Amino acid sequence: EYAETPLVVRGLRKAYGDGFVAVERVDFTVERGQVVGLLGPNGAGKTTTLRVLMGLTMPTEGDALVFGHRLEPGSPVLSRVGALVEGPGFLPHLTGLQNLHAYWQATGRPAADARFDEALEIAGLGDSVHRKTKNYSHGMRQRLAIAQAMLGLPELLVLDEPTDGLDPPQIAEMRRVLKRYATDGRAVLVSSHLLAEVEQTCTHAVVVNKGRIVADGPVDDIVGDSPSVQLEVSDV
Ligand code: ATP
Repeated sequence: EYAETPLVVRGLRKAYGDGFVAVERVDFTVERGQVVGLLGPNGAGKTTTLRVLMGLTMPTEGDALVFGHRLEPGSPVLSRVGALVEGPGFLPHLTGLQNLHAYWQATGRPAADARFDEALEIAGLGDSVHRKTKNYSHGMRQRLAIAQAMLGLPELLVLDEPTDGLDPPQIAEMRRVLKRYATDGRAVLVSSHLLAEVEQTCTHAVVVNKGRIVADGPVDDIVGDSPSVQLEVSDV
C-alpha cells in the first residue's frame, strides 16, 4: 500500500531497556522530491528515530516503512536507501576514493551501479578524493561520508546531523548538496538541532521534542507561523 512512498513512519514508539521512552507516537511521511528536516533539541529522539528506520534497533511499537518494507538484513529495498546514521570509519591509509570503492565492494553490488563520479560531484569533494583520509579535515570527512551514503544514488537518503561540526561556509555547501540531491524524484530525510539550517535546506520539517512531534508541515508554515516551535527549539 505504501510501496511508492520513500518513508512512512506510523505510531512509532521506542522505550529503552531502562524504561526510558525516547520516541512516542511519532507519525510522518517523506515523499519524493521532499527534503524533510527532523528538527529538535539534543535528546529529542531524532537519532533513535533514524536508527529504527534504518533497522539498527527495533521499535517497541509501530513501524517505519521504506518503500513499503521494514529495513532488516536482506530487505529488498536496502539498495534504494543510503544513510549516514553512524559515523563510518574510513581506512586512514587509503584515499577517499579508495575508501568508497572498498565500501561499495563490501555491499556486493555491481561496480557499475555505484555511480562514483556522480556521488562525488554532488558531494563536492574535488581533487581531495585522491588524498589519504588520514589527512582529511572534519568537513572533508563529513562530505566523504555523505558521498558514501549517496553511492548508487539511492531514492531515499537519510542523514543524521550532517552539518555537525562544520563551519558556516561548509554548512552553506551542504545546503547546495542536499537541494541538488532531492531532484529527479529522490527524497532526503535529515536531522538537525538548528532551526535556521532546516529553514534554509528543507522543503518540510518534522519538529520533535521529548520524543513527540510538536509540528509537521511545509517548512515555511513551520518557521513563519508557529511561535511555539521557535520556543521549543530555541533552547538548544
Ligand atoms: P542527539 O542530537 O543528542 O543525538 P537526539 O534527538 O538524536 O539527540 P536520541 O539520541 O534519539 O536523541 O536520544 C533520545 C533520548 O534517548 C536521550 O535522552 C538519550 O539519553 C536516550 N537514549 C538513547 N539511546 C539510549 C539507550 N541505548 N538506552 C537508554 N536511553 C537511550
